[in-house]
Amino acid sequence: MPSEAIVDLRSDTVTRPTAAMYQAMREAPVGDDVYGEDETVNRLEATAAQLLGKQAGLFLSSATQANLAAMLAHNARGEEILLGDCYHIFVSEAGGTSALGGIVMHPLATDDAGSLSLEQVLGAIKEDDPHHPITRTLALENTVLGQVQDPGHHRLLAEAVRGQGLSVHLDGARIMNAAIALGVGAAEVAAPFDSVMMCLSKGLGAPVGAVLCGSADFIRRARRLRKMLGGGMRQAGVLAACGLFALEHHVERMADDHDRARKLAEGLAEIEGLPVRQATNMVFIEPAAGDLEPLAQHLRQQRIEIGQQSPRVRLVTHLDVDDAALDRAITAFHSYYR
Ligand SMILES: *Cc1c(COP(=O)(O)O)cnc(C)c1O
Repeated sequence: MPSEAIVDLRSDTVTRPTAAMYQAMREAPVGDDVYGEDETVNRLEATAAQLLGKQAGLFLSSATQANLAAMLAHNARGEEILLGDCYHIFVSEAGGTSALGGIVMHPLATDDAGSLSLEQVLGAIKEDDPHHPITRTLALENTVLGQVQDPGHHRLLAEAVRGQGLSVHLDGARIMNAAIALGVGAAEVAAPFDSVMMCLSKGLGAPVGAVLCGSADFIRRARRLRKMLGGGMRQAGVLAACGLFALEHHVERMADDHDRARKLAEGLAEIEGLPVRQATNMVFIEPAAGDLEPLAQHLRQQRIEIGQQSPRVRLVTHLDVDDAALDRAITAFHSYYR
């Protein structure tokens, strides 16, 4: 038993580069990217921009850094963004947009599906009055906690706020999961937005990085901000090569992650009294409070790792969870509850 590999269901960030990805790294032509001379970075930026239907792209060290650069490019100090109260920029980026950008974050309560309504968004735009910050940007997300957001609804929101002078950003860390689940191209999911951020190191399986896309002018400003944030990397082509490889080889296979998450949810739904919910590559369970610790302990003994969030525990499928790993996980859960 201990010789078996660990099945890590904590996040889709835990994947290791594949052998083919290491090969792509080794063979990547590189140069100094701060001088704009890294061929592989340039190719990744152009490829991502084309995939997302935007003029230009920018490779950054992480999705958090990419969102921060985007917020700094859209907003001046004292200006305000509207966003969902469970969205990553508000909850999980150490408050960087406010702390480093002097930008006000106005969180709006999302519904259970992670969405904001038109009334909510329009009602939150502040009047032009010296008492108020200037509402400048609407920042949306897709997927939200795994849940796919409707691009038609995003278009409705975007058109409405643009009429009031706002710009619109998509935190599309998992935009490819949304596109695969919807059966459309990523450009369609990205279309309503002025800027879109895509993470390369989640379900796509690259070890590092994110790409921010938008108009050529927006990306020029974001490039300066990336430098300001300490994110100008030199022979970054070795990392960009992994992102390129992922965009070429790891997009279609995300459907397998979604299928496995569904299979995991079905397997766990057989356990009496364990609430289970699934969306794209995520499964959420709510073990009774007293079960959290001993369940995680039991699973760890079977070399299965789950998150320690409470009360809802998130299980995530990814490149490094195959059918055998999934069966081991389901069996281990059942053996705890037996
Ligand atoms: C993970 C995530 C990010 C940030 O990614 P890092 O690679 O951790 O910086 C941003 N937005 C969303 C929606 C995410 O899920």
